[in-house]
Amino acid sequence: MKRIDFSQFFLKKNNMLIPTSIKYEKKGTRKRAYFICICDCGSQTEITPEKFKIAFSCGCKKKNELQKLEEILLSIGIQLM
Ligand SMILES: [Zn+2]
Repeated sequence: MKRIDFSQFFLKKNNMLIPTSIKYEKKGTRKRAYFICICDCGSQTEITPEKFKIAFSCGCKKKNELQKLEEILLSIGIQLM
């Protein structure tokens, strides 16, 4: 099995999530890696690296909702960074 260097992900933001550390959990004979991420909303979540790549938030916000919010804010002249 190929080893992945997870450190490349650290402190790099993916949408609303920032991975702060990594945790290994044994599942049977396999070791599974989890990123411990801090979300923009302030909550902490554990997520597998595979899911992290496609994740948007800890689950507090869905992409569509944020886009909608952005549109509303834009329409009243506020731009999100
Ligand atoms: Zn969140």
